[in-house]
Amino acid sequence: MKEIKFENLNGEEIGGYKIRKLPIKITVQEKSSLHIGSAEDPLTGMKAAIYKIDGIPVIPASSFKGALRSQMELYFINNLQLLKSKFNVKEKEILKPCIPSVRRSIAEKGLVENGIYRETSCQISITEKDIEIPKIKRNNTTIELGICPVCYFLGAAGLTGFIRINDFYPIEREVSKIVEKTQIRIDRGTKTAASGHIVTGEIVKPGTKFEGEIEIIERKPEGFEFGKERRISGKTLDKWLENCNMEIEERRNELLKILVSCIENIRILGGWKSRGSGKVKTEINNKIQSKI
Ligand SMILES: [Zn+2]
Repeated sequence: MKEIKFENLNGEEIGGYKIRKLPIKITVQEKSSLHIGSAEDPLTGMKAAIYKIDGIPVIPASSFKGALRSQMELYFINNLQLLKSKFNVKEKEILKPCIPSVRRSIAEKGLVENGIYRETSCQISITEKDIEIPKIKRNNTTIELGICPVCYFLGAAGLTGFIRINDFYPIEREVSKIVEKTQIRIDRGTKTAASGHIVTGEIVKPGTKFEGEIEIIERKPEGFEFGKERRISGKTLDKWLENCNMEIEERRNELLKILVSCIENIRILGGWKSRGSGKVKTEINNKIQSKI
């Protein structure tokens, strides 16, 4: 596919924000489906890929964001060396993604111990005198890691990122064609559908297309700019961009390239992988118009 340039993305200015829009199309794969459920399954704790708003199946932003975050983590883990030289980063650790939770599972602790993820999660604490950013001690020296690249895009606790994701809606609005009820439990006594079990198996059929937008915040009211490292009171939050030699336009296109590659790698949505559902194709919607 033709490379997308940041300056060609549609944009708008609202309330001090300058925003660029990246249109996305998600197609449910053949032989797969998307399970419609509540925001979270109370038994498994798994989030369904989809829920319904006014009878229309919707892929919630949170579902997409979760999938995008895992792809971005993988991207930075797999391309550490390449990105280290591209962005002129002194210390590999600075480019490693964080696990954005204080309560880590055993498996996650293992990922940190094996050096795949960084030790600290991304948060900053601001005191009267100083701003504390994530750092580690190694051989008696302190390495300031700053906010990880994934949180730069998607945000960390108390610090928003440069990417905003909206819900995705089906392109065809004829909902009756989209939703299929599959798992109606038959009441053994009355031989009819057991009450309360009728909607449990609603799915979105293969081939259904969803569309939506990802917003890239080019400039925030406080002056932060996409592609540049953020500074608060002289302290750099994004150490991974601090020594980058690229001009701002080139940086933005590099970051956009990373984002697009991660978006196109989203092939599963929701927590129903074992049932063969949730397989999707995610792509950039071609109808990108030019310039503001
Ligand atoms: Zn992080």
